[in-house]
Amino acid sequence: MSKKRCEIICVGTELLLGEILNINAQFLARGLSQLGLDLYIQTVVGDNEARLKKAIYDAMNRAEILLFTGGLGPTRDDLTKEAVAECFQTELYLDQDALNEIKAFYALTKRVMPHNNEKQALMPRKGQMLKNPHGTAPGCVMWDDKGHTAFLMPGPPREMMPMFDHEVVPRLKAYSDSALFSSVVRVASLGESRMAEMLQDLMDKGQNPTLAPYAKDGESSIRLTARAKTKEEAEALIKPVIAQIRQRLGKAVYGVDVKNLESVIADQLTEKQMSLCVLEAGTGGLAAKRLQETDRAEDIFRLGLSANTIEGLYKALGEGNLPEDPTQACRELAALAQKRFQTPCALVINQYGSSYACAALLNDKTAERAGAFPLRGREYYSLQAAQNALDALRLLLEED
Ligand code: ATP
Ligand code: MG
Repeated sequence: MSKKRCEIICVGTELLLGEILNINAQFLARGLSQLGLDLYIQTVVGDNEARLKKAIYDAMNRAEILLFTGGLGPTRDDLTKEAVAECFQTELYLDQDALNEIKAFYALTKRVMPHNNEKQALMPRKGQMLKNPHGTAPGCVMWDDKGHTAFLMPGPPREMMPMFDHEVVPRLKAYSDSALFSSVVRVASLGESRMAEMLQDLMDKGQNPTLAPYAKDGESSIRLTARAKTKEEAEALIKPVIAQIRQRLGKAVYGVDVKNLESVIADQLTEKQMSLCVLEAGTGGLAAKRLQETDRAEDIFRLGLSANTIEGLYKALGEGNLPEDPTQACRELAALAQKRFQTPCALVINQYGSSYACAALLNDKTAERAGAFPLRGREYYSLQAAQNALDALRLLLEED
C-alpha cells in the first residue's frame, strides 16, 4: 500500500485555555514517527461543532489518515464522532456490541449505566469499533469513499494510549512502507551554531539520515533519523554517519543515546570503582544535584558541599590561606577535600560575578577550566559553570 499522510486533531476547549498540556499529541506524534508515517500538521480545536468540522474538512484536503482524541464522552459537548461522521458522509447507528461493552464496564465497576451513555454506543456504518478496556467510551475507525481513514480515541491519556497501541498501531502498520531509526549524539562545550557549522554538509537537504541540531541546558545535541525498509536497515544507515560526526567533533562528543553528562560520569566512576566529592561556590549545589540524580549515585557520590563563596568553602575545611588566583584556589581546595573526605576524585567549582573557575582532581591528575560568560543572569552562570566543571571531569576520567 502506498505511503499516506497523517494528521492529528485534538479536540477540547480546555486545551485551548491552557488548562491541560497536550500530551496526547506528543504521544501520537512519536508513535507515528516510529511507524515511519508522515505527519506535517497537528490541530487543536475546541468543543465547537462548526470549527471542528472546518478543521476536519481542512485536514481531509491535506491528508488521508486523521487521528482524533477527545470529545467521545456521553455529554452534549462531546461531538467528535458526530462531526467526523458528517464530514465522512457515513451514518451512525446504535451498535449492540458497543452497548454491551459499555454496560459491562459499568457492571464491572458496580454502577448502573446512565441513559446518556447510549450515545457512546453509536457506531459508523462505514467503520468499526475500537475497544476501550480502561473507560466507557469506545473509540472507532471510520472510512469515507475518497480514501480517508479516521481513528477516534478518547481524551484521557490513560484510555487513549493503550487504545492507540493495541487497536490503532496494528491497523496503521498496513499504511507504512518504511521504518525510522533515531539516535542522539550528545555534545559538551561546543555551541550549537559552531557544531552545525562543522557538520554543515551532513545536514544538507535530502540526506538519509537527516540531522537536526538542538541546544538545551548548556549543551548541544544532534538527532540523526534514518528511514529504510526495516528498523535494522535504518540503524545501519546511521552508524557510519555517527562515526563521521565523532571524527569531526572529537572529544566534544560525550556519548550517543546516553541520558546526560552526569550519567556518563557516574558510569565512568563506577567502572573505576571510585567515589567523588563535589564542592561548589555560587551554583547552589547544581553539579552535586545532577550527580545525586543518577542511577549510580549510591556507589559514586560521597559528599556535596555548597556555599555562596569559595571563602565559605575554604572556611568549612578550615586550613591556611586561600590563594588569590581562582583556578589555583579550586585546585588547592580539591586537594584538601580529596584528603579530608577520602575520595580519589574531587570536583571544585567557583562561580562568581559572571565568571567561573573549576578544578577536577583524579588521584594525582588535575583538569582545570576558567572563563567568563556573556551577561545573562545567575541561572545561566550556574548552569554553565556546573556544565563546564562536569565536562572537565568527564574528560579527565576518559583520559585516565
Ligand atoms: P470523557 O468520557 O472523559 O469525557 P472524552 O473522550 O470526551 O472523554 P474529553 O472530554 O475531550 O474526552 O477529555 C476528557 C479529559 O481527558 C480532559 O479533561 C483531560 O483531562 C484529558 N484530555 C483530553 N484531551 C487531552 C490531550 N490532548 N492531552 C492530555 N489530556 C487530555
Ligand atoms: Mg468529554
